[in-house]
Amino acid sequence: MCRHTAWLGAERSLADLLLEREHGLLQQSWAPRRQHHGSVNADGWGAAWWTAARSAPARWRRAAPLWADASLASVAPHVAAGCVLGAVRDATVGMPADETACAPFVRGAWALSHNGRVERSVLPAEAWPTAESVCDSAVLASWLLAAPDEIGPRVRTAGEADPTARLNVLAADGARLVATAWGDTLSVLRTDDGVVVASEPHDDDPRWEDVPDRSLVQVDAAGVRVTPL
Ligand code: GLN
Repeated sequence: MCRHTAWLGAERSLADLLLEREHGLLQQSWAPRRQHHGSVNADGWGAAWWTAARSAPARWRRAAPLWADASLASVAPHVAAGCVLGAVRDATVGMPADETACAPFVRGAWALSHNGRVERSVLPAEAWPTAESVCDSAVLASWLLAAPDEIGPRVRTAGEADPTARLNVLAADGARLVATAWGDTLSVLRTDDGVVVASEPHDDDPRWEDVPDRSLVQVDAAGVRVTPL
């Protein structure tokens, strides 16, 4: 399992969200607290963020441990956005090890990360030509981002077709977050200036809420909605 984190709210720097929390994505790259599958997320990292300049997000990925990226550590305090999505990767056996297999995957205004694994044969053939990699998560992202309003139903369809699948996805388009809990942990933190959706709490703030398995989480200007899948 990999780990992912997203923020929607007031502008905050990539460093504040991803690198400076007590148990944030940086710490989760070597010491996740709630990860049940795999132990170290050292196979790569990625981040997407949205600015007013264009609808498509900026994306930066590397096929190396987050803790080893001195350039990100230098630049991240200077980059701020109101919507940010970050991920660290523990590659599934048999999946590619290069940067194109690292989340987040991007299509149009959307970016998506996946914690888990899915049998690629249950995903429709139409997803393959637009997939950024042959990695299961990239094919899944291609299919889900072809119909962002259908992420919940499509995750359920894939989960029913592959009962061994773990399908925690986290997607954003700059104004919305959409996440699923399907086989792994997911938590939400509502603060005065925004919302965090993450694989696991990045600190011990008592306001963190655990999301029940098989749920859909939607965050936008209207607030946070958690519904059963
Ligand atoms: N299956 C995906 C990959 O290989 C995600 C792995 C994970 O969640 N650990 O990258």
